Amino acid sequence: MVANSESDMLSFDHKEGEQAVIRGRFAPTPSGLMHVGNIWAALLAWLQTRSAGGQFVLRMEDIDKPRCRPALAQQALDDLRWLGLNWDEGPDIGGPYGPYTQSERGAMYEEALRKLQQSGRLYPCFCSRAELLAVASAPHGLSEEGPVYNGTCRCLTAEEQEQRRANKEPSLRFQINDDQAVAFIDGAAGFKAFAPGAGGDFVIRRADGIISYQLAVVVDDAAMKITDVLRGYDLLDSTPRQLMLYEALGLPAPRFAHVPLLMGEDGKRLAKRHGDTSIAGLRAAGVSAERIIGWLAHIAGQQPTFNPLSARELAAGFNLDRVPKEPIVIDEASMRRLFGS
Ligand code: GLU
Repeated sequence: MVANSESDMLSFDHKEGEQAVIRGRFAPTPSGLMHVGNIWAALLAWLQTRSAGGQFVLRMEDIDKPRCRPALAQQALDDLRWLGLNWDEGPDIGGPYGPYTQSERGAMYEEALRKLQQSGRLYPCFCSRAELLAVASAPHGLSEEGPVYNGTCRCLTAEEQEQRRANKEPSLRFQINDDQAVAFIDGAAGFKAFAPGAGGDFVIRRADGIISYQLAVVVDDAAMKITDVLRGYDLLDSTPRQLMLYEALGLPAPRFAHVPLLMGEDGKRLAKRHGDTSIAGLRAAGVSAERIIGWLAHIAGQQPTFNPLSARELAAGFNLDRVPKEPIVIDEASMRRLFGS
């Protein structure tokens, strides 16, 4: 990986063959049931890794404890295993870079916080809590994290900070470099560039002490030696922030690929209102794992026709270039095919 930050462009490029073994991951948040939308990203990440003979890591992203349920984490493991998406390291089987559950990794996040603090990149922010709450619980990119932070608390004097601290616990913000654009080659979406200042200074630790998704995911992907992050397009806007953190922490960044989201006919992200597409629900309705995998493989351009088949059968011929680039609309006929009705 090469990070060129001497000019005012933070640009990332990976040289072929830099690391021989590919390491991919799936990192679900156990705040709801797994559904075909999550499994879509999980399957593609798994196929990318397995087709390259790599190692696959499963990480449970339960850092926002109040939103997460241990039973849902267990259900996620069961669903993935039932679908044949196995892992080499994970919360249940351990591995060399564990623990693989974010709520057990607090010491590592604190260490990263200290590093950032020492390099003068963090400052306390006393702005309203409502705005800050969105950060850890909704890792859905710049646009969904509210307006760009206007920097109100960036230039407070030590005295002003002390005064405010008496009334309010602050959050901690990461000070971005206002003059620096961020660019990288996305394995699925192509060249991506973000203008200087995109998104503004962002929260690293909420006022309630919860570490933000952005920091946790960077610390974890680096510590777990992940070489390839494949995830949904909704997280594309988080990537420049994460790249800034890799640079600030002196950590090597992985390659990124953001795949399009599955949408309903109304143009909204596939959700309950479009039908119960939870894996548990499909399984209870008698839909086989091979049917779900075959259905996703067809949508992903990996199979010319819809045929039930196992994830393992797909791995050898996987080609990321065949995955559509635009959001994928699941119409009623397609939905019926999934259910076999
Ligand atoms: N835990 C995040 C989610 O479920 C995904 C994080 C990532 O893939 O970077 O949305």
